Amino acid sequence: MSKPQSAGAILRWRGEFISTSLESAFLRDQGSVIQQELTRSLSFCGIAYLIFALADMAHLGYGSQTLALFIVRLAIAAVAVSGIVLTRCSANPGNTAYRAATVFTSLAMLSFLLVAYWRGELLLHGMSMAIMLIIVYLFIPNRLVNATLVALSASAAFLALVYAQGMVSPRHLWTMAMLLLLANLFGAAAARRDAHSSRRQYWAQQHLINQSVRDSLTGAFNRRHLNAGLLEREIDRARSRGTSLTIIMCDLDSFKAINDTHGHQAGDTLLHDFARLLLSMTREGIDTVVRYGGEEFLLILPDTDLADGHALAESMRARLAESGSLHDQVRIGATASFGVVSVRLSPGLPGITSKALIARADQLMYAAKRSGRNRVHVTGWEAINRA
Ligand code: GH3
Ligand code: MG
Ligand code: MG
Repeated sequence: MSKPQSAGAILRWRGEFISTSLESAFLRDQGSVIQQELTRSLSFCGIAYLIFALADMAHLGYGSQTLALFIVRLAIAAVAVSGIVLTRCSANPGNTAYRAATVFTSLAMLSFLLVAYWRGELLLHGMSMAIMLIIVYLFIPNRLVNATLVALSASAAFLALVYAQGMVSPRHLWTMAMLLLLANLFGAAAARRDAHSSRRQYWAQQHLINQSVRDSLTGAFNRRHLNAGLLEREIDRARSRGTSLTIIMCDLDSFKAINDTHGHQAGDTLLHDFARLLLSMTREGIDTVVRYGGEEFLLILPDTDLADGHALAESMRARLAESGSLHDQVRIGATASFGVVSVRLSPGLPGITSKALIARADQLMYAAKRSGRNRVHVTGWEAINRA
C-alpha cells in the first residue's frame, strides 16, 4: 500500500512542493528574499565579469577581438541589470527572479564559451567553468531544474568545444570531463538540499501559523484571528469595492442539555461535526468561519447579499436538524439558531463598524432563540438604520 501523501510533500529531485498552489504561495512568501539574493548575486557576477576584461587584454592585446569581447561582457552586465530592475518592478518577484536568473546564466555561459573559444587556454578555462557551475547552482537563486539544465548544457557544450579544438590531449579531456561532472554533481546535490530545507522550513512555519489561528477541536478560526482585524479588513474591502457583506451568528440549541444527557465527549463530537458542516458549506479561501464562543460560530461572507446569506443560513439550519451528529454509534439530534445581517457597503456609507455588525447578528440570533429556536432571523443594515 502506498504511503498517504502529506500536503507539504516535496518532489524528491526537483526540490519543489508537489502542490503547485503551495509552490506558488512559497514563491510569493519568499519573493522579497529571493529578489534581494538576485540583486546581490547578479551585481557581483556582472562586476566580476566586466573585471575579467583585463584578462582578455593581457592575453589578446588591445585589438578588435578584445573590444568585441568587452562588448559581449558589457551586454551580459546589461542583462544582469535588466534582470534586477524587472524583478524589483514585478508583482511576483520570486517568479520573475527565477526567470531572470535562467536568462542571465544561459547568456553568461554562452558568452563564456565565446571567450574560451577566442582566448584558447582551455585547461584554465575548464577550471573557471567548474567555478561558474557552482555559481549557477548555488550563488544565483533559481529553480533547481533550470539551474541543472543550464549547467549541464554548458558543460556539454564546453567539452564539445575542447574536443573540436583538438588542442587538449585525450587524457586531459577525460580529467576535465570528470572535473565538470563532479562540479555538476556536488552543485546539484547542494542546491537540492537547499531547496528542500527552505521548503521544509516554510511548511513548518505555515503549520505553526495555522495552529495559532485555528481552534483545535473544530478546525474553525479562533477569536485571536478575528481580533486581529479580520472583520474590519472585510468591511474596508467591501466598502472600497462597493459590494455586499453578510455575517451570520449561529449557536447550537440547548447544548448544555446535550452535554448533560450524552456527556461532554458527545458534545465535543457535535461541536466538531457542526463546524465541519459550516466549513463544508462555505467557500474556502473566501468565507471565514470563527468559533466565537463555546458553541457559537461567526461566519463572515464577503460578496454575499441578504437573500443569499438567508438561503445559506436556512440550508445550514435544515442540514443540521436533519443530520445531527453520530457519537459512539448513538445519533444525537441537534438544532441551531441563526442571526443573519447583511449590508451593501459603499465608500460614502459611514457608521458601519465590526462591533455594530456582530452585535446586530447576535441580537438576531437571540431573537431566533426566543421565538422557539431552530430558526433563522435576518435583516439588512438599511432596515436597522430605519428602525
Ligand atoms: P441555548 O439554546 O439558549 O443556546 O442553550 P445552551 O444550553 O446551548 O446554552 P448555554 O449557554 O446554557 O450552555 C452552553 C454550554 O456549552 C455550556 C458549556 O458547558 C458548553 N460548552 C462550551 N464549550 C464546550 C466545549 O468545547 N465542549 C463541550 N462539550 N461543551 C462546551
Ligand atoms: Mg447554545
Ligand atoms: Mg451560546
